[in-house]
Amino acid sequence: MHGEVTDKNGKLHIAILEKDMKPVKAEAQSLTATAGTRQAPVKLEVAKDETGFTLTPPKEGEWIIMQYKETEFGKTITARIHYDTRKCAPCGNPEWRCACGEKKKK
Ligand SMILES: [Zn+2]
Repeated sequence: MHGEVTDKNGKLHIAILEKDMKPVKAEAQSLTATAGTRQAPVKLEVAKDETGFTLTPPKEGEWIIMQYKETEFGKTITARIHYDTRKCAPCGNPEWRCACGEKKKK
């Protein structure tokens, strides 16, 4: 399972993708997201629709900790995103979804 995060009208949208990158319908899956600091975590509002999850972005520079479950009793998968909104010069995307940086890491 993969997740693809995009910007949509000031919200973050997470699509669930299969290994072959085909989108998966969001049904039994669940997602919770937390940002803020270790001392004061803030739960982010998550809405689910057929295409995935939409969440309210945290403050700039915060880490988003997402906990994803495929089914109610499934294993919890945790993912972290550094919500760094500074613009990446080479690709023009905000750092948090910088495409060229991703390639560098791989
Ligand atoms: Zn970049």
